[in-house]
Amino acid sequence: MDLFGKTITELQALIKEKKVAASEVWEYFVKRSKRHNPKLNAYVSLLEKPSNPIVKGIIPKMELWGIPLAVKDNYCTKGVRTTASSKVLDDFISPYESTVTSKLKLSGYELLGKTNMDAWAHGASTETSDYGLTKNPWDLGRYPGGSSGGSAAAVAAYIAPGAIGSDTGGSIRHPSAWCGIIGLKPTYGRVSRYGVIAMGSSFDCPGPMTQSVEDNAMLLQIMAGKDPYDATSSPVAVPDYRSKMKTKRKLKIGIAREYLKGVEPDIQTAFENMVDVIKKMGHSVVDVSLMSPEYSISVYTIAQRAEVSSNLGRYDGIRYANNRAYFGQEAKRRIMLGTYTLSHGYYDAFYKKAQKVRTLIKNNFKKTFEDVDLIIGPNTPVTALKVGEFEKYPFFGELMDQLNEPASAAGIPAMSIPIELDSKNLPIGMQIMGNYFDESSIFNFAYQIEQETNFFDVIKKGREKYK
Ligand code: GLN
Repeated sequence: MDLFGKTITELQALIKEKKVAASEVWEYFVKRSKRHNPKLNAYVSLLEKPSNPIVKGIIPKMELWGIPLAVKDNYCTKGVRTTASSKVLDDFISPYESTVTSKLKLSGYELLGKTNMDAWAHGASTETSDYGLTKNPWDLGRYPGGSSGGSAAAVAAYIAPGAIGSDTGGSIRHPSAWCGIIGLKPTYGRVSRYGVIAMGSSFDCPGPMTQSVEDNAMLLQIMAGKDPYDATSSPVAVPDYRSKMKTKRKLKIGIAREYLKGVEPDIQTAFENMVDVIKKMGHSVVDVSLMSPEYSISVYTIAQRAEVSSNLGRYDGIRYANNRAYFGQEAKRRIMLGTYTLSHGYYDAFYKKAQKVRTLIKNNFKKTFEDVDLIIGPNTPVTALKVGEFEKYPFFGELMDQLNEPASAAGIPAMSIPIELDSKNLPIGMQIMGNYFDESSIFNFAYQIEQETNFFDVIKKGREKYK
């Protein structure tokens, strides 16, 4: 049986119908990972053995039985090395399991490997990883985007059928756009952050990265929900995403022209073409006016650094891990800036003001969602940049994520879907933003686009080279 390109949903069916054994699926992905990882560097650690005893022929009633997934290396996985791509945690073997990976484990998944990322999730290129950067499967001379670049590359090259990432200011959506896959940042609090190495705690969102909308919805279903270990996780009931996804709703879609400024012409054109298609599909499209993304960049830069300076304070080298001398340049820059904005005399001018503007951004989205179901726009201002560009921008992460940070500042859900290729043959992503806890409408809309257009052929094209 040729498993190449099969979605998680398809693999589940094959395992259930006994057309393929779970152990064969495991071996298939281990083999592919060993073959392609040396050039891609998508993994920091690859697991040698499955953690569940996957016996041929025995199929327990577990939804993800036999499904191997790649998990970003900032998720604590018990007994497995967890580095957040920083040498500070070089030899850290986590003594406990994150809530997300516990839930996946209870569903029977197999941890295939821990994926490379920007160290501590700071950045949008994987360049800040202490374990070398990950290469974009579309063009090995380019960045995969970040910070969940390893997870995105693993899915795009099909060395994993799906992956888990984390998004603080775009880290799932950005690499998903640059690698041409589907990535969702859920509503803040929809998925527990327990056991995810903290970056910007009021922004961090764990989320799924997949080849199909259905896979994405299925993984979120497993990951979401209230967790007693995370006080910020939400008690809002988790709907049945997949059944809600398949009713063909006619949606009212908003476009914010503010999000089109300074975007590469190829991306603009692809987006406008997509808008025409959406109208033809029978959805109504209206212009909405949102606060300029520039405000979100400022808010994010200040608040995220402040939270980083506090969160990274625990790595003092006394209780566990290596000492502070192992922090890279980017982490040091962020700690210093955060400490500065929180210090006496600057707190009111920076941190407090940023929090006030953050409230305005939230209110702006709330008001807009009174009128529309979803808001769409480009996901990134440019497609995947060449390796080396990072050095040229002091705030690379912010610039690349300027269209992603508004949803992060507000805490609303947002997804990146692949819509086309640019003239350099690189994938272009479109962002779909939804109202608080309304991931259902995002799935519904993305699923319709996936079913009724050929836009998602980008995903097929991307993996073809890795057959
Ligand atoms: N680009 C943003 C940054 O550099 C986002 C990173 C993230 O979401 N983890 O901080």
